[in-house]
Amino acid sequence: MTAKVRAACVIGWPIEHSRSPLIHNYWLKTYGIAGAYRREAVPAAEFAGFIHSLAARGYVGANVTVPHKEAALALTQPDDRARAVGAANTLWFDGGLRSTNTDVEGFLANLDTAAPHWDRELPQAVVLGAGGGAQAVVYGLLSRNVGRIVVVNRTYSRAESLRRRFGDRVEPAHWHDLDAALAEAGLLVNATTLGMTHQPQLAIDIGRLRDHAIVADLVYVPLATPLLCAAAARRLRTADGLGMLLHQAVGGFALWFGRRPEVTPQLRQLLEADLEPSTPGRTGIT
Ligand code: NAP
Repeated sequence: MTAKVRAACVIGWPIEHSRSPLIHNYWLKTYGIAGAYRREAVPAAEFAGFIHSLAARGYVGANVTVPHKEAALALTQPDDRARAVGAANTLWFDGGLRSTNTDVEGFLANLDTAAPHWDRELPQAVVLGAGGGAQAVVYGLLSRNVGRIVVVNRTYSRAESLRRRFGDRVEPAHWHDLDAALAEAGLLVNATTLGMTHQPQLAIDIGRLRDHAIVADLVYVPLATPLLCAAAARRLRTADGLGMLLHQAVGGFALWFGRRPEVTPQLRQLLEADLEPSTPGRTGIT
């Protein structure tokens, strides 16, 4: 590493699956920036030490992924967004080591692109899940003034904790209440791991949704989840997990390398080919 090359990394355990290097190195090449972006496999017990030596290792910042997002919050100076969500995924130096959560803007920018004006007159949304992804989604929906957010989660107490964190516009619910909530929802978001390759299917009757409803899925392996396929078959507007992944990367790149990058159809195709090399003919951003 030379002093002239700015470098960032993604820190996780395991980390081989991360697509972030593909995204950031594509942008570095596209914009002709002399930089580097690497994977760093760091187990939980070594995370604090790694963070404290981040600058000494030559890094100007980092992404943080599973299982370190909560620990990253505690070890950095988080902005209001990361503190509210309870997790940080993007770190950079500005005086001290600062952090934010770009899953929020990734979720919102993806919906803005895939379903423009989705947030006009949206009295109710349903969010499936109450983990880290769901928290970013709920924060984002509240910031766009969605009236009521029904959080449906297998472990009800985790849905209740989202109400405590975000306030009484969040309504915890059990799975057996889902059908009634769907009938009133303008937006459905899957923020569970259900529907992922090697995970159980998401058993849900989207026939309950209204004709103008929008369906978003955070899962991006497979790209076209059964939920998104069912929504498309009903001609509902959809936003997929890959779009969110691409948009959440924008903020970190801008902070580290000084240029706000674009999420283009070419970048998306690169990721599609990596995620599903055998899927022919998939097109650009929806
Ligand atoms: P997490 O914190 O581990 O939360 C997992 C959620 O899935 C919890 O609500 C959990 O419910 C639920 N769940 C897991 N197995 C279940 C089952 N068998 N039945 C019912 N519910 C089940 O994970 P996360 O970080 O929020 O990630 C969730 C998904 O979002 C993952 O697929 C991840 O890849 C994706 N994600 C994508 C992006 C993106 O940029 N596209 C960003 C963030 C996350 P319990 O609380 O009951 O365990």
